Amino acid sequence: MKKPLASSLLLSLLIFNLVSLQPCLAYSHQSAVKNVIILIGDGMGVAHVEITKLVYGHLNMEDFPVTGLELTDSLSGEVTDSAAAGTAIATGVKTYNGMISVTNVTGRITNVTTLLEVAQTLGKSTGLVTTTRITHATPAVFASHVPDRDMEDEIARQLILHRVNVLLGGGKKEFDEDTLKMAEDYGYNIVFTKEELEKAEGDFILGLFADSHIPYVLDRKPGDVGLLDMTKKAISVLERNPNGFFLMVEGGRIDHAAHENDIGSVVAETKEFDDVVGYILEYARKRGDTLVIVLADHETGGLAIGLTYGNAVNEKVIKGIKASTSRIASEIKVTGDIRGIFKKYADFEPTIEEIAYIKKALNSTDRYALQNAVVEIINRRVGVGFVSHKHTGAPVPLLAYGPGSENFGGFLHHVDTAKLMLFGRENTPITISGVSGIKGDITGDSEVDRRDAYITLMMLLGENVDNEAEKRVDMDRNGMIDLKDVLLILQES
Ligand SMILES: [Zn+2]
Repeated sequence: MKKPLASSLLLSLLIFNLVSLQPCLAYSHQSAVKNVIILIGDGMGVAHVEITKLVYGHLNMEDFPVTGLELTDSLSGEVTDSAAAGTAIATGVKTYNGMISVTNVTGRITNVTTLLEVAQTLGKSTGLVTTTRITHATPAVFASHVPDRDMEDEIARQLILHRVNVLLGGGKKEFDEDTLKMAEDYGYNIVFTKEELEKAEGDFILGLFADSHIPYVLDRKPGDVGLLDMTKKAISVLERNPNGFFLMVEGGRIDHAAHENDIGSVVAETKEFDDVVGYILEYARKRGDTLVIVLADHETGGLAIGLTYGNAVNEKVIKGIKASTSRIASEIKVTGDIRGIFKKYADFEPTIEEIAYIKKALNSTDRYALQNAVVEIINRRVGVGFVSHKHTGAPVPLLAYGPGSENFGGFLHHVDTAKLMLFGRENTPITISGVSGIKGDITGDSEVDRRDAYITLMMLLGENVDNEAEKRVDMDRNGMIDLKDVLLILQES
């Protein structure tokens, strides 16, 4: 399946000679990897996957040959947010919570090159797809650089400025007239409905299907766009590029459901994500040139399955849930019909104690009391518990398929995702010896070649860095090693 290194090198030399005017093709030997697809379940811990499997029996996520765990800590500490986690995934560089593909390890705010930007330099098409606002942290880290994730109108502008081919998700309200006008001028086909998405043509599509996030799976109406619809469209646009593509798809609201401790929505959102995983896995299997990575940015909620020993989980309760707990709570509030709403949306008859519990919450001044009461009743019936309404520091699942997938097994950290940029596997140990004085030459053989780029990538990933060596490969002199330096060395080799 994987092309031997020697022949791919030869091929790249051949291509280089033929089209020396296009240096970006010079290293299209990128092993046998033509397309890279990253699928991120936001907030999706191992337990979120497990409870979804209990409900549905089998998940596509089980079918990956390479599995591992990723540590998620950021410079802020053990518990990351999506901005810092996404930045680590997208750039290979750790940063502080809230930051979008910038870091201040150099003492000032510095932009860090992302995998999407690398893919663009390699002549590939690119796409970002999510069920959250497209300007939310996870998609943002791949194609924008801001010190604060809340600068979403600026992120919107930068997503367009980056000319990402396909941008699909929610977040209409973050795109003002000027940004939409700029998108139009850049040739984007701008769509707002599922119907328009299906018909959309061209190499640039901006799809904004909700003012804020796309509704939860359980709360969607017929005709609402889903993650699979958006993913299929993205693939159909991106796969036309003969140089290949880079695509990130996020199941963005697993996190939101877990923040709310809403087990019905956690499962429904994770299932939607897994359907996309299945579609992508099938696509990659048919092609053989597509590397697929599935991972989460962090765990949300501290989900525990089973509150006592033994057969303590009743997943049938989850199967009966037909709305998010926020919708159940708001309908109880509006109608006052506690029994009827539980019957309609959760498929069970609440007990006298449960009704009393809801009535008490209805009288509370805490605005979350009612929803939390609904959550508690459902979770107790299912037999699951959440430790908090926030993120936790647990390692998250990592799955890989396709050429180069062997780099993603084992116990890693988010920054290791930068290995997606590996250009052929190197097995020889890393040695930094001699100083030739040539910028970009770290092996000391007086030549700048892809071995130097490889070692630079490994240094970025934390392999022993000595200061002198670091200076020699900081090609753009921004005070740190990042993917940009790796790219620049490749371009010089
Ligand atoms: Zn979150």
